[in-house]
Amino acid sequence: MPQNFKAELTGSFSTPCHDNPTVVMVEAAYQHHGLNWRYLNAEVQPADLAAAVAGARAMGWRGFNLSMPHKVSVIQLLDELGESARLINAVNCVVAREGRLVGENTDGKGFLSSLRPVLDPAGRHGVVLGAGGAARAIAVELALAGVGRLTIVNRTPARAAELASLVRAARPIEVEALNWDADYAVPATADVLVNATSIGLGDATARVPVAAASLRPGLVVADVIPNPPQTALLRAAAHAGCTTLDGLGMLVGQGVLGINYWTGVGVDPVPMRTALEEVFS
Ligand code: NDP
Repeated sequence: MPQNFKAELTGSFSTPCHDNPTVVMVEAAYQHHGLNWRYLNAEVQPADLAAAVAGARAMGWRGFNLSMPHKVSVIQLLDELGESARLINAVNCVVAREGRLVGENTDGKGFLSSLRPVLDPAGRHGVVLGAGGAARAIAVELALAGVGRLTIVNRTPARAAELASLVRAARPIEVEALNWDADYAVPATADVLVNATSIGLGDATARVPVAAASLRPGLVVADVIPNPPQTALLRAAAHAGCTTLDGLGMLVGQGVLGINYWTGVGVDPVPMRTALEEVFS
């Protein structure tokens, strides 16, 4: 073999493109900032995940996002985990740093960036409805942000208890796990209520079992549901005088963070949100 042999693969990789909201959002930021980058989406079957990650390494990708069911199984294929990804035990964003693939979790951080303009969670009482992936990310990130007290309410009590233990391991704060078998009355001490369940996804009329009379001015009510952004819970909360945050803010917050991890550029969230609103309108 010649001494200066260099293996090169020149090719063109094609994948069918769908109107994936995250692609539209990220590409809107690239375009707005004149960044000559591309964000592609490809469907990968669970059995092909290892090959896909090896491919991303081989092609020198700066990173990628993952959705379910890959958020946990990808961990064994990475070199390192960021703090919240390690605590949550789930990765939704991979970043190539000096040749190493680092797993991050931007779900909860995206939520925090949408919350901070209206409320600093430090020392506050947060209530999280749900105990699935989104709830885990949000609860852990709220704990890391210094929330004083956390209440986790879930239909399956064992999952609420498991999440409470996870949060306590992240930070020794007051955490309670409650069973959700009737309309939940938001306590007067609560500063922020987060619907982190899948109730409302694709159904603007789906009702989250929360007592309408316990919604009041001064309470921040956030919903993770990005589509449709105006959920029945958010409409009821606005009607009761609460401050409301929709799921698009969380999605945009994740996008801003991911782009910053990959490119080092701090992007403007406004064109990203506008692009998402167009997709979901
Ligand atoms: P999971 O399946 O992991 O968890 C779903 C949660 O919802 C569980 O706690 C489940 O309770 C609860 N739930 C579902 N249906 C009901 C019901 N009828 N009554 C009471 N509780 C119910 O899903 P994820 O956590 O991954 O996702 C949840 C939502 O978050 C999705 O709609 C997703 O689109 C959204 N999401 C939004 C993001 C954003 O950026 N805006 C980012 C990530 C997710 P149980 O444990 O009892 O089954």
